[in-house]
Amino acid sequence: MGVQRNMSGPPVPIVSVRDVQFRYRNPSTGSCVEVLKGIDLDICEGEFICIIGPSGCGKSTLLNILAGFLPACSGEVAIEGEAVTGPSRHRILIFQEGGVFPWLTVRQNIEFGIVGLSRNERHATVERYVKMVGLSGFEATYPHALSGGMRQRVELARALAANPRILFMDEPFGSLDYLTRLKMRSDLIGICQAEQKTVV
Ligand code: ADP
Ligand code: MG
Repeated sequence: MGVQRNMSGPPVPIVSVRDVQFRYRNPSTGSCVEVLKGIDLDICEGEFICIIGPSGCGKSTLLNILAGFLPACSGEVAIEGEAVTGPSRHRILIFQEGGVFPWLTVRQNIEFGIVGLSRNERHATVERYVKMVGLSGFEATYPHALSGGMRQRVELARALAANPRILFMDEPFGSLDYLTRLKMRSDLIGICQAEQKTVV
């Protein structure tokens, strides 16, 4: 597994991983598969980090540990100086597909994660992110009537509108066709730079 860094952000550590180890246990046989061993990683605020490696090397496992969905078997994971003990709304994990709620419109999906704003502020936030991800005109559309790329745009907008401190993305454009993926990648980089988000 390798880590590519873009050192444009200020060097404030936000994620710190020390000597993390993880094994999956097969409950029927009792045998274990060691997936992560001796993982050390520091991620600074505003960095856009890519974890690269072959299929099965443990990228999703590591992201799930960072997001608080899986506990590490040993080692330490801290975010903003606090040990990660579970998921938090300050960290959002976006998957390859299937993250949008099919029973909500684009507008309702994006509004879903917004906490602590007035009705007017919520609407303004939704409008801002609808526009940012290029979905103006589709606010009242349900996900089934969107393309795969548009659905991932909804998911990105929903995540950004919730204003997390860190965005974890697990091959978010992996299910899209090549050209859409290229476009989404370059749009994502532009949006994340504009939003000053920490992205892994
Ligand atoms: P990547 O995301 O890099 O493709 P994963 O983190 O999904 O890799 O998987 C790493 C290894 O852990 C693989 O060998 C996979 O088979 C195994 N694994 C993943 N999820 C489970 C699970 N729930 N139970 C047992 N083994 C798993
Ligand atoms: Mg994976």
